[in-house]
Amino acid sequence: MDSSDSVNLRLKPFGGNVAGGYAADTNRYSDMIYRRCGRSGILLPAISLGLWHNFGSVDTYSNFVKIAHKAFDCGITHFDLANNYGPVYGSAEENFGRILKQGLGVYRDEMIISTKAGWDMWPGPYGDLGSRKYLFASLDQSLKRMGLDYVDIFYSHRPDPVTPLEETMGALADIVRQGKALYVGISNYNAAQTQKALEILNGHRVPCLIHQARYSMLDRWTEPELLPLLKKEGVGMIAYSPLAQGLLSDKYLNGIPENSRATRSISLTEKQITPEIIEKTGKLNKIASGRGQTLAEMALAWLLKNESVTSVLVGASSVAQLLDNLKALENMQFDKEELEKIENILN
Ligand code: NDP
Repeated sequence: MDSSDSVNLRLKPFGGNVAGGYAADTNRYSDMIYRRCGRSGILLPAISLGLWHNFGSVDTYSNFVKIAHKAFDCGITHFDLANNYGPVYGSAEENFGRILKQGLGVYRDEMIISTKAGWDMWPGPYGDLGSRKYLFASLDQSLKRMGLDYVDIFYSHRPDPVTPLEETMGALADIVRQGKALYVGISNYNAAQTQKALEILNGHRVPCLIHQARYSMLDRWTEPELLPLLKKEGVGMIAYSPLAQGLLSDKYLNGIPENSRATRSISLTEKQITPEIIEKTGKLNKIASGRGQTLAEMALAWLLKNESVTSVLVGASSVAQLLDNLKALENMQFDKEELEKIENILN
């Protein structure tokens, strides 16, 4: 390992494997930056790839295979899934399983694969939220869909208002003891819920590796309490929807392009693309241009300037978007004046 500074690590070059129909780029570790995930042995790439959208049964297999391969070729070792990613539910895991089987899986030991349970997955009382029954059954299904013996990280996808936290965290700890996951994480828990969850997990001697929370220039709920808590407790933080599902890019500045997420999903609707948002992102875009970056690159760099953010978890509907996002790593420094200008726009 080669470290240019104590936070952003670069790895030494290594020879390559050849797998089935896919041979990973032998230079895959030359440009990526890795950051330690809290107080753990795990390094995560500063940019990770999420499979919430664009990898489902409604999407084009040849396109997402290219995205997954390019990601790994560029040093993205972390792929994030959940039981219900698709659509249809489960299909992103199935498709990722196919990609693994058709070659990428040879590199399994170079990958951190995560999945989650917590949102509605199957009908009836046992396919949602945080019971032990649901978490165990769901992880078994996920492992089957992906053709894996274990995942690296298993998350409780959201807090359950009714199930005792002891039950949910106890299930996570037992899942690790059974070897079905190497580490556990929580997602969408607020600071108070997180504090309690960490205490319970520590009591089981299965510390929480990571918290996955929504965080972007347009959504900063984590800043006052959650980020300081995670830092203090030595838990990693991975920021999801760091581009606010594409709003923090130049794609909506001149209208809503056909086949964009806003036209084809329910998670981002055309209504959310308000004149106020476009005014803000237009101004941010000008600052990004002044830095020689696209808005997407700057939005990711802005998150990564905070050393408490272990990784930003991007989605991409094309290889070109992925490559653009990776360029964020080329400039993660902001001067005081830029930061002030950005704050003025955001506030
Ligand atoms: P982003 O905020 O990165 O949004 C991704 C979308 O932004 C893409 O689909 C694309 O939209 C657009 N985009 C990406 N890069 C560019 C670019 N360079 N230029 C222009 N447009 C771009 O992340 P997601 O919302 O997709 O979330 C990322 C991951 O986070 C998920 O896959 C999942 O793993 C995780 N997640 C976790 C949640 C949780 O509850 N724990 C909830 C949500 C996400 P288009 O498709 O229109 O081209």
